[in-house]
This record gives sequence, C-alpha cells and structure tokens, in this order.
Amino acid sequence: MKSYRKELWFNLPARRGFINITSQVEECLRESGIQSGLLLVNAMHITASVFINDDESGLHHDYEKWLEKLAPHEPVGQYRHNDTGEDNADAHMKRQVMGREVVVAVTNGQLDFGTWEQIFYGEFDGKRKKRVLVKIIGE
Ligand code: ZN
Repeated sequence: MKSYRKELWFNLPARRGFINITSQVEECLRESGIQSGLLLVNAMHITASVFINDDESGLHHDYEKWLEKLAPHEPVGQYRHNDTGEDNADAHMKRQVMGREVVVAVTNGQLDFGTWEQIFYGEFDGKRKKRVLVKIIGE
C-alpha cells in the first residue's frame, strides 16, 4: 500500500471566505501516483472547514448569510469563549456546522465525485496562515 501526505497553506485576506481547492487536491493525487484508494482532506485549525458542495457563487453567498444568522460575529461579547480575549467564538461554531474534513474515493487515479461535487476550504477567522492536510492511501 502507498501512503502520501501533504500540507496546503492558505492565507485569506478577509475574516471569512470559501476557496475551491479541488485542483490543488487533484495535483496531490497525481503526485501520489495512487490509482485506487481513499483521499482525506481536513482543516488543521478549529476555525476553518473543508467541505464538498457546488461551486456556485449564489450558494456561497447563501452559506455566508445562513452561517452569520446562526452564529453572528458581532456583538463579540455575546459569547463566553470570547471572555478569553479572543473574538472568534462564531468562527468555532461556523466550523462545526460546515465540518472538519472530507473523504473521497480514488478510482482510476481520479477523484470519484458525484455530480457537481467540488472540494472547498472554508475560512471563518482569516487574515493569517492556516493549513489543510491531504492524506491519500491506496495503491
Ligand atoms: Zn477561539
């Protein structure tokens, strides 16, 4: 069995945003040489997500509005977590809703996606460098 590991780095200029990272993950898969197996992609931070959905700007706008309704950033004083001096309680909650990781089957050296599936990095407390782990196992 082959095993491959790589960290991808992101530094979003805004507090929140979504990036389609599918082509970077496909590059990892090519580098790995793995033809059949499983691919894991996870955010290595508790205020960021990795998720799979449609690359459609209206949907991403809807996510932003929905998440902000569920866990508004302000007022920051509404969250006990922010009593620690941080201001990112909302980002922890948004990450929880959008998820930590995705697993995709690898078949014939390709990501075995369903229709319209793409992999996204979701940032909820940006303006700093953060990592995503790509781990692929198979043969
Ligand atoms: Zn925090």
